[in-house]
Amino acid sequence: MIVDFHSHIDLYSDFSKVILGCKDRGIYVLAVTTTPAAWSGTNRLVMNCPQIKVALGFHPQLAKARLNELSLFEQYLPKAKYVGEIGLDGSAAFKSSFAEQIKVFRHVLSCVNSAGGRILSIHSRQSVGLVLAEVRKISCLPVMHWFSGSKMELMEAINSGCWFSVGPSMLMSQKGRDLVASMPRNRVVTETDGPFATVKGRQLYPWDASLVFSYIASVWNISVDDVEDMLFENFLCMLKSLK
Ligand code: MN
Repeated sequence: MIVDFHSHIDLYSDFSKVILGCKDRGIYVLAVTTTPAAWSGTNRLVMNCPQIKVALGFHPQLAKARLNELSLFEQYLPKAKYVGEIGLDGSAAFKSSFAEQIKVFRHVLSCVNSAGGRILSIHSRQSVGLVLAEVRKISCLPVMHWFSGSKMELMEAINSGCWFSVGPSMLMSQKGRDLVASMPRNRVVTETDGPFATVKGRQLYPWDASLVFSYIASVWNISVDDVEDMLFENFLCMLKSLK
């Protein structure tokens, strides 16, 4: 069974086909959004697909431009079990909006804490330490998406109770492969980050999350089928821990 725990399904140019493709294959998808305003429309798109859940997001790269949507976030949160894509982006291109990013992220986390029982899909590019410091203050189940920090930061994330969603693009670099190899087996799920993420120039679709099975099989030294089963079991455990 395939799980894509971080897909921007609403942002594919052929999203209706992608949604049908997920339905036909019976895969499970977390459709993250990048702004609160996108949440209701994305819910309408996947209305007839119970295996696609929509997460309420506020992408750090849009924090400055969409600051006015914080109240919309509060309005939708009672109905959203999943929250993402949220986080911080400390890379050069987004450093200038860091103050707004922090403001949005803290507000989002404080709402999540009050609501309780939420699973988060978190962006932490060049900001792992700060992201973890904020996440540790609240009650939630944090899933670090496409984790790209250092080994030390990975250990800090593990000690902070984080889960990890791992996609094919992450395995294109040695650094990414080393990080995946160091993650606890019972806290890994799969993702794609499509349509933004690509592998060898090809856009990824949710079912391409299965491309990580063979690498993980080689690291864990078990069969590809067993990896698929274990990762699905992890996904179910994660959902069960959502009270
Ligand atoms: Mn993303």
